[in-house]
Formats: sequence, structure tokens, C-alpha cells
Amino acid sequence: MWDLKKNNKIKSKKGFTLVEVIIVLVILVILAAILIPSYVSYVDKTKVAQCKVQRGDLSQKFLAMYHYDDEIRKCTSEDEVIAITGQDVAQYMLDNEYYESSIICPVHGQPYEFRFTYKNNRPKGEFLCGCVSETDDFSVFEAISKRIAAAYTGWDRSDVIRSVHEEYGGLPEVSGDVLSGTAFEGKAMYWRPYYLGNRTSVVFYGVDISYEDSLQGLWRGKVLSIDGRVYVNTSGNYSIAGFYNYNNVSELLNSSSFRSNFTEKQD
Ligand SMILES: [Zn+2]
Repeated sequence: MWDLKKNNKIKSKKGFTLVEVIIVLVILVILAAILIPSYVSYVDKTKVAQCKVQRGDLSQKFLAMYHYDDEIRKCTSEDEVIAITGQDVAQYMLDNEYYESSIICPVHGQPYEFRFTYKNNRPKGEFLCGCVSETDDFSVFEAISKRIAAAYTGWDRSDVIRSVHEEYGGLPEVSGDVLSGTAFEGKAMYWRPYYLGNRTSVVFYGVDISYEDSLQGLWRGKVLSIDGRVYVNTSGNYSIAGFYNYNNVSELLNSSSFRSNFTEKQD
């Protein structure tokens, strides 16, 4: 009797019971469920930041190449630049030693979209990437809106567009899902912010004009994102300049001019 008890004690000290093993496994599964997604989003954020650095570097070195190269220096349009460099401008820069780092987005592993503008004798080469907003995550817009509203009490509209551009390393791209089934299907569009009259409400408008043009005051929208809902222009009159007459989003949505120009996109 005494021996048996002693034996049992020794046995239980040597190993784990099935229940203990299960508890440990359950804890590990819970920890993994918590830690792995936050690690993945950390890695994503790092890569998006890396993409932004690369594109900024490409843009600067493009300008250096532009001023250095006798032929490219004559270009005042994107077509003229591409006639010399070929479609893949970043690849041309790499091949000709104007740039020496990666020319693909670390998030998607895809090359960048090149855009050249020439305004007031100032050339600019941009390397665009959709990696900043391919998730269709409208909480991103809400977060930007709140930050903008908090930071810019007396802001200029161009400042707002610029701040989003700088903070996200580009303007967030309108996803294909949003554009599918609309007249704008297949187009590359980017979201610009636009504030309403009280300067605390922000709507985003998607349009396919260049970043520079949107700073010049071409306040037009083909699709709109308002509080997570998407509205598509149906009228052909794309101007959204009058939106500043409305003090908040519900005023805008209730206005007849809004209704006649835009309809909510149904999935
Ligand atoms: Zn990217």
C-alpha cells in the first residue's frame, strides 16, 4: 500500500498528464493567433515604408538623370521620356547606373507605374505603387480624416492632398473592386482628400488625373468615398468644388446636387 502510493508520486513527477499537455498546446495556439497577425502587419508596414523610400529615391535620381542626360533634358512630356528610356523607366535607370537599388515594390514584387509631369519648367518623375491601399480598408481613410481634421484647422486643400501623399508614400489607389461594374472599370485612379465647409469632415474623391494636377485645383471626382461608403458619378459633371458649401457629410448627402451627380455603389 505504501509502496504503491510512493510509486504513483514518482510517476506523476516524471512526466506530464494528458490534460497538462493539452493546456500547454491551447496556450501556444492562442499565443500564435495573437502574435502571428500582428507580426505580419508589422512586416507589411516595414515593407510599405521601404517601398516609399525606394520610390522617393527613384524620383530624386530620375531628376538627376533628367538634368545630366542631354537628350532626356529636352523632354517635356511622358511620351518623350519613354521614347528614350522605354516603358520601364526604373529599369533604364538601373541599366544606365543612374540608380542602384531595387526597382520593384517589396510588398507586391511588382514594378512601379511611372508618371512624368512638366509644369512651370519643372520636370518631375513619380514612381507610383498601389501597395498603400490595396486592402480596400476604409478605416485607413477614417484614420487619415481624423488626423487631418486634428492637424489642419486652417488648412489649404492642396496641403491636405500633399500630407496624405507624403504620409502614405503616394496617394492610396482606388481598388479594382470599387471600380468594377462602373464606367471607370480598369482605370488607374487615386484617392484625394477634400474637406467640407466646417473643415472637420473629409471626403475622398477618386480620379485619374496626376498628383500635380490635383494640387493645381482640379477638384473633380469620378468616385467618392464618404464614411466608408462609395458613390459613383453618373452625370458626367465631375466637379466637386461646390462640396465646401456643405458643413458635414449628411448635409452633402441630402443635397439634391449630390444626388443628381452620384449614386451609391451597390455590390
Ligand atoms: Zn509598393
